Amino acid sequence: MIKVEGLSKTYGGFKAVDNVTFDCRPGAVTGFLGPNGAGKSTTMRIIAGLTPATSGSATVAGVHYHDIPNPGTQVGVLLDASAQHAGRTGREVLTMGAIVMGLPMSRVEEMLALVSLSPAESKRRIRDYSLGMRQRLGIAHALLGDPKILILDEPANGLDPAGIHWMRGLLREYANRGGTVLLSSHLLHEIEVIADELILIGNGRIVASGTKAELLHTAGTFVKASDAGAIAQALTAAGMSSTPSGDGGLRTESTPEEVGRVAAAAGVALIELRPAEGAGLEEMFLELTGDTQREKSTPEGALA
Ligand code: ADP
Repeated sequence: MIKVEGLSKTYGGFKAVDNVTFDCRPGAVTGFLGPNGAGKSTTMRIIAGLTPATSGSATVAGVHYHDIPNPGTQVGVLLDASAQHAGRTGREVLTMGAIVMGLPMSRVEEMLALVSLSPAESKRRIRDYSLGMRQRLGIAHALLGDPKILILDEPANGLDPAGIHWMRGLLREYANRGGTVLLSSHLLHEIEVIADELILIGNGRIVASGTKAELLHTAGTFVKASDAGAIAQALTAAGMSSTPSGDGGLRTESTPEEVGRVAAAAGVALIELRPAEGAGLEEMFLELTGDTQREKSTPEGALA
């Protein structure tokens, strides 16, 4: 269990984290989603005892990180895959971790195999690793002490599609065995696939949280026709209000069946007709991303 209560972090006069409260429960993957600069890393660093909070508290399994004896065996943390000493080999990093935690050396081999780092790769220096290999090593390091809680900041960065698929399977299985996972990402679709619970953060504040089912469920219908004007007109004529969704489609409060009937009666050919699931969350996320982009002076700094 991870418990964050009224957490704030101020840098100078700037509130990077603003009164953040949430829980992560065992047996679930909690997705921590927000655009770059939203405050995810700062929150995770505070939970992992690397940054002091300005106010509020963060506990892991009921205690502050600093008060956990042999923390690596309780909480696995991957915050910055590139933060390892570049001159060490992957195997050395895991070996040192095993010594510090008092683990048998066989655990190093097990973890290397788990993350598919070959014996040859494990003997290469980290400066020669790709970002994906560093992420794999970071995951191996986080899991080394067989902790019950995992905190991973953007672990999918740099992983190829097969790597992302592998990681999802690993985290699913970990949570199914009763583990607690807090996983951050700046990409909605990346986290939507794996998370059971979602926490949406923007400008340091939690803007939405709940189970994935709750957040993705929105009433209404998404409809798209080759003739966008004709379907809008047909819906209006039938007394149904609709709003453009920005990608050539329309969103309406009516059911797909009602929309389908109107389209058929008006002779409008449809390209898409489906429940507007996730639309609310996506909209909220795009709004947050838009805000962040407006705040940055360089557009490329806003979203990777
Ligand atoms: P995220 O992980 O969501 O991308 P961060 O937690 O890294 O966001 O950053 C949140 C905000 O806090 C950003 O505006 C960032 O520039 C700022 N920030 C983070 N660390 C520091 C620091 N050490 N000093 C000053 N500002 C910081």
